[in-house]
Amino acid sequence: MRVFQCAVMGSGGVGKSAITVRFINGSYLEWYDPTNRKQFNVDNQPCLLEILDTAGIDQYLTLNDMFIRESEGFILVFSLCQRDSFEEVLRTYDAIQRIKLSEGGRIIPIVIVGNKSDLIDEREVDTTEGEKLSLNWNCSYYETSARTSININSVFEDIVRQLRKNELSK
Ligand code: GDP
Ligand code: MG
Repeated sequence: MRVFQCAVMGSGGVGKSAITVRFINGSYLEWYDPTNRKQFNVDNQPCLLEILDTAGIDQYLTLNDMFIRESEGFILVFSLCQRDSFEEVLRTYDAIQRIKLSEGGRIIPIVIVGNKSDLIDEREVDTTEGEKLSLNWNCSYYETSARTSININSVFEDIVRQLRKNELSK
């Protein structure tokens, strides 16, 4: 079976690891290996997804370039409760475009994720802002909570659908 590679990127503390472990293990805030594979069904077809949970782009610039080169799809996570982390998504997107377009331009599978939707009172980014970004970039947008598990599966199913589409258009 074809293994699809995707990277989970975003500022520190937005919930990249929490989202990944929630998806892989169905649990919240447990230790796990940062390189994860999961086999699951999307649209009644099995797929194998390798998920790379990365560190913040500011801290390890060259490492992030390597992650971007090695990944075919990107889950760009910010915290709905932290405006800075939303701005970081724009920078990461630029880095992805820079690296991937130099490899030959094709549509890059991307899902934007606003996490911590359970913290309603602490919200700093509106739903419309995330939606607007996804319209501009022609990608998907989900608001998730790793804590309650809401929309977590949808994020990974969406990236698989995009990766499959990408594969077919090769
Ligand atoms: P990472 O640095 O992006 O990998 O972030 P982590 O996954 O380590 O999460 C950082 C902290 O944010 C965790 O310790 C949790 O306390 C909190 N967190 C992560 N996801 C959620 C969520 O969906 N809801 C809430 N309330 N807190 C979350
Ligand atoms: Mg982490």
